[in-house]
Amino acid sequence: MKIKMTTPLVEIQGDEMTRILWDWIKEILLEPYIELKTEFYDLGLMSRDQTSDQITIDAANAIKRLGVGVKCATITPNHQRMEEYDLKKMWSSPNGTLRAILDGTVFRAPILVDGIQPYIPAWKKPITIARHAYGDMYKNVEYLAPQGSKAELVITKPDGSQKTLLVHDFEGGEGVVSGMHNTVKSITSFARSCFNYAVDTRQDLWFATKDTISKTYDGKFKEIFNDIYQNEYKSKFDELGLNYEYTLIDDSISRVVRSEGGFIWALKNYDGDVMSDMIATAYGSLAMMTSVLVSPDGKYEYEAAHGTVTRHYYRHQKGEETSTNSVATIFAWTGALNRRGVMDNNAELSDFAKRLEKATLATIEQGVMTGDLVGLFRKDGVTPKKVNSQEFLFEIKNRLENL
Ligand code: NAP
Ligand code: MG
Repeated sequence: MKIKMTTPLVEIQGDEMTRILWDWIKEILLEPYIELKTEFYDLGLMSRDQTSDQITIDAANAIKRLGVGVKCATITPNHQRMEEYDLKKMWSSPNGTLRAILDGTVFRAPILVDGIQPYIPAWKKPITIARHAYGDMYKNVEYLAPQGSKAELVITKPDGSQKTLLVHDFEGGEGVVSGMHNTVKSITSFARSCFNYAVDTRQDLWFATKDTISKTYDGKFKEIFNDIYQNEYKSKFDELGLNYEYTLIDDSISRVVRSEGGFIWALKNYDGDVMSDMIATAYGSLAMMTSVLVSPDGKYEYEAAHGTVTRHYYRHQKGEETSTNSVATIFAWTGALNRRGVMDNNAELSDFAKRLEKATLATIEQGVMTGDLVGLFRKDGVTPKKVNSQEFLFEIKNRLENL
């Protein structure tokens, strides 16, 4: 008897090698066990081009309506892709569009496997990065100021009055100037998403900025997080035995390195950009990172953190064998199925998701893995064996059926 679903989830198909893996994962690991109910959106580049990207907007609205989505990696077009796919227009990043509509925060967490040792041996549990994906340096205005110029910041208030602040007097020589901003609305959404995710995943939340130096700008981030915590989440955190801690970014980094993991690390846009690459590398492989977009009102969209693995796809197209790691894409599915199960009180569905995760990890722990992991694997008495993309899925299936 297959497991039934009461409510559909939003299924978003994508591009290249991950598109191929997507269909295989469904065929080999999901459809034999679940009567999958999905609302399907093809965000493959051809379909985005044919619909003038309306399909991406429709997919985002479907997630708003149904509450859960799972997304395959997609191509963000550039000039080369314009030619390759003969596009009408250089469509913007689908993830950017989804994020803008859902107003979400992206949480990235590594998948830990026994046998793949983090570069930092103290880390026993995943560290989840929550990156604020709006504003600061990413929406700045910058200028190369010539010698003798004076840079000023002018704020024109609603009543027309002006406040002028001197940034720097470049009388001694040329220099650079940057104007950045953020909004209380965006910071507030970010904070709520972080607190919600901490409650949902039962993890402590750490937040860090440089408010000793940036007293007004970073100070505002600190204040908003603190107010929302005190007014909306403190009692829930206390009840669950969770902690919220604010620290200075430098102190935070040294504590993260000495920690054993198992918490959410919320960071401003730039800090999150830089630290998420550090975390991914330190845990082993980009192919083992999951990513989930959480909106402030609790809608979830799961995906792998990596891209469409173009180089493998070109080999696949030529009929060559590939050994592409499907773990993060499988975990995107299990994340979404589990979430659907939790929302619908469908324990069977959530249990299946947990079993599939277990079977996937057991496969690697028993020495069967894709090429990207073979060189990283160290476990006494186990010699790693490289399998191709499809063999890996069948190896997981064998173990799933024995659980
Ligand atoms: P990528 O697809 O993540 O791949 C970069 C390289 O990392 C691959 O060539 C491969 O190395 C390795 N790799 C990544 N995932 C792997 C996996 N699952 N199994 C094995 N190896 C893996 O990044 P990219 O080449 O920069 O981008 C390709 C396309 O993906 C671009 O069009 C980009 O727009 C898109 N992209 C989409 C998303 C998204 O939808 N979230 C995110 C990032 C990029 P080797 O070739 O050395 O084996
Ligand atoms: Mg980066």
